[in-house]
Amino acid sequence: MIFDRVETAPTDAILGLSEAFKKDPNPEKINLSVGVYQDERATTPTLDSVIRAEQRMLEQQASKAYLPIPGPPEFAAAVQRLLWDDDHEAIAAGRVATSQTPGGTAALRVAGDFIKQNLPHATLWMSRPTWPNHSGVFDAAGVPTRLYAYFDESTNDLDEEAMLADLGQASPGDIVLLHACCHNPTGIDPSPEMWQRIAATLRERQLMPLIDFAYQGFADGLHEDAAGLRELTAAGTEMIVCSSFSKNFGLYSERVGALSILAADAEAVQRVQSQVKLCIRANYSNPPAHGGRIVTTVLEDPGLTKQWIGEVAQMRERINGTRRTFVEALADTGIRRDFSFITRQRGMFSFSGLTPQQVDALRDQYAIYIVRSGRINVAGITRANVQRLAMAIADVVQSSGS
Ligand code: PMP
Repeated sequence: MIFDRVETAPTDAILGLSEAFKKDPNPEKINLSVGVYQDERATTPTLDSVIRAEQRMLEQQASKAYLPIPGPPEFAAAVQRLLWDDDHEAIAAGRVATSQTPGGTAALRVAGDFIKQNLPHATLWMSRPTWPNHSGVFDAAGVPTRLYAYFDESTNDLDEEAMLADLGQASPGDIVLLHACCHNPTGIDPSPEMWQRIAATLRERQLMPLIDFAYQGFADGLHEDAAGLRELTAAGTEMIVCSSFSKNFGLYSERVGALSILAADAEAVQRVQSQVKLCIRANYSNPPAHGGRIVTTVLEDPGLTKQWIGEVAQMRERINGTRRTFVEALADTGIRRDFSFITRQRGMFSFSGLTPQQVDALRDQYAIYIVRSGRINVAGITRANVQRLAMAIADVVQSSGS
């Protein structure tokens, strides 16, 4: 049979853990492996601003006819205001073009197709480590990739000098993938000074940033989290931004993201956008409407926007508060290792420094599920499970003698 030639693909490590978690009969089990926000009750809520927007949309009964290839212009305008603020030079100069995409993942994939077809000599540089699907997406698009140094295990911090030295190896015209904030999986972001140094290196070496912005609002605030992006948007600079509304609108399953192209001027951006449209057409033809309409409805209405900003702040404050509670609970166990670096990390994820053996012991002895890299989803920690989690970590860390 023809399909006999097809081999079984490896299962996705993170989704495999979720399956094992579901089957685990332990009533005290804890899942810190998933990539979604959870509230104190360990559920992923639908935001009230989203429900109100959907109620309005139901009353308006918009047509289900196809959207334009890059989605509606109102969506594009709303995204640009969120990324660059209302009165930014780049928007006023008309040198940004935005397409609505099925999630941030499709924005990355369309960017990959665009790069492969139009910038065939470019190498894409990714941080070591990065979100594993980055290599999945860019390999599938046929874009050559290399890694730049990012995380320093010995200090649990960004290895600034090594990162800049690696970027110094890139060739003019190469592309550098940067996480705008809440770096996944480490939780370590560049400082404002480091963003300046990155911007200077990119300029000097004629490298183009590709910004992955999947967690706007989850670090320090919606405006604050775009500081790195604005730093890189000096006059005349070029950039690709892949943003996502999965996390900050809780619209995971609606698949709503955006691909924004920033070019030197209005003529250049239209030329580039014409190629982006070809990539979209051959990929999924045009985006699904519902999720994008929710985002536009919220962002065009001052009352709903205010409510949404408050809901994003609530999620952010819960995560940052949980980081502090977790570190205190660990310290209360008397564990010798200093985990205070966890409070300096941002976003849902934390590189805990736990080894694969310690991660296995947590699963086998305590029904605590963590990715083997030691990446913890901080949003999976609640007041109800933090003590048990801290005790379990202290136990496996001390019994492994580290
Ligand atoms: N980039 C990063 C760094 C992410 O963590 C994610 C979500 N896990 C995405 C992009 C894509 O998100 P989505 O396709 O769900 O919008």
